[in-house]
Amino acid sequence: MRPIDETCYWLAHLPRHEPRPLAGPADHDVAVVGGGLTGLWTALFLKELDPARDVAVVEQGMAAWGASGRNAGMLAETIDHTHGLAIQHFGRAEAARLAVLGEQNARELTDFIRDRDLRCDYEPTGRFMASFTEAHLVEAQRNVDIARSLGIDSHRLLSREEMQAEVHSPLYLGGLEVRGGGIMDPARFTDGLRREAERLGVRVYERTRVDRLVEDGAGVRLDANGTALRARRAVLATSAYTHHLLPRVRHRFIPLYDYIMVSEPLTPAQWEAIGWRGRQGITDGRTFFNYYRPTADGRVLWGTSEATYYRGNRVDESCDHSQRHSDALRASWRRTFPQVADLEWPYAWGGPICSTTRLTPFFGRALGARAWYGLGFTGHGLGSTRLAGRILAHLVLERPSDLLSLSLVTKPPFPYPPEPLRGWAVDAVTRDLRRVDQGQAPSALLRLLEKLGIGFSS
Ligand SMILES: Cc1cc2nc3c(=O)[nH]c(=O)nc-3n(C[C@H](O)[C@H](O)[C@H](O)COP(=O)(O)OP(=O)(O)OC[C@H]3O[C@@H](n4cnc5c(N)ncnc54)[C@H](O)[C@@H]3O)c2cc1C
Repeated sequence: MRPIDETCYWLAHLPRHEPRPLAGPADHDVAVVGGGLTGLWTALFLKELDPARDVAVVEQGMAAWGASGRNAGMLAETIDHTHGLAIQHFGRAEAARLAVLGEQNARELTDFIRDRDLRCDYEPTGRFMASFTEAHLVEAQRNVDIARSLGIDSHRLLSREEMQAEVHSPLYLGGLEVRGGGIMDPARFTDGLRREAERLGVRVYERTRVDRLVEDGAGVRLDANGTALRARRAVLATSAYTHHLLPRVRHRFIPLYDYIMVSEPLTPAQWEAIGWRGRQGITDGRTFFNYYRPTADGRVLWGTSEATYYRGNRVDESCDHSQRHSDALRASWRRTFPQVADLEWPYAWGGPICSTTRLTPFFGRALGARAWYGLGFTGHGLGSTRLAGRILAHLVLERPSDLLSLSLVTKPPFPYPPEPLRGWAVDAVTRDLRRVDQGQAPSALLRLLEKLGIGFSS
């Protein structure tokens, strides 16, 4: 099997640097496990709150080799999954607060990219949600109405003609346009945060897998690379891998694999046939939707949210590739853009997503408040991990912040069942959701889950 840094388009094009693994005993004030977006933002906010603080990031692979460097690079302006779901879980006032926070977070994130000159091909394109059916159009209008009711005016319904004028697909009956956010190269972005953290004095240990995290007097000890790193506090920014170090958290989340392909560069005539001059990130209105965007060098990235749960909460390299998903992705591309059906797709890969029943992150502590964690970003983590890093930094340093009163910080999500029930439940819900996407009415199981606001999705 080819390694992820060859099959993932972003990682294959990421300039290489020499890793500096943990090679002997070390001491730091705060040790952050995980060199993805959550871990690196946490390190950066720790430095912002206290520049003298001695912070280390410990990453088993290289920075950006988890979901952070493998994702579609579509930055949304939201923290919640949908504003409607946020109202259902947290109430209208808090949903409004989250919506404003989401827009502010995306703005600050892109300011950071500009101010620090992080070269990650960011383009402020906004996004579309394409409607394939009348039901999708009704849902799109509902999204506009809900956003307006929360004071958000960035959503607009597009007619068939307006949508077709932007992007030419025979499947589009209309769509939803959302201003804010855009597209970027996520691996360069994450690696840019790594460089920025190192510039501020954060010690980043790559190729350093933490095997165990235990209490050590008033602090913690991380066993890694046959040696030990001691710290006063630890942060687990390990997303879908968190159960490897902290098994008791696994009932609060589910690790899912999403899959993506990237094409050869399209010719000018092929681009002309699709349109898409605004280069927006696009999803569609189905439960298991495709997500897609152009790359800076004129390719198409084409992904699917029909995620796979591997029994026993498996998260390792054996899940990085799926022929079944590649075949389904090729077929869905041909259906959506038949005018350029015959594209070659030299890059195909998967990555682990950490989902919760409420489809928003959660936070907690372990080892007698010596360790903190924040995870569950679903498929929106490119933006929301920044807010999580800010929250985690305040929690670890015990600094006050308005953010700590958010329900997603104070309340854990409804738990998932344990195995073997977990695997059966995922299979049953997946089967029923596929039927809805084929036009059937939601099953009794789906209606019950919807009433409870419980999701099984990436
Ligand atoms: C295919 C795919 C497409 C996506 N598309 C989008 C998108 O377009 N927009 C969007 O907003 N979000 C998207 N996401 C979601 C987004 O990528 C994630 O929510 C986000 O990257 C999570 O960041 P993280 O730092 O918490 O996790 P990760 O990036 O997974 O980082 C966790 C890190 O911890 C390390 N680690 C784990 N265990 C250990 C250990 N024991 N010792 C040392 N290190 C360890 C891992 O190697 C990993 O690097 C997508 C995700 C995937 C997989």
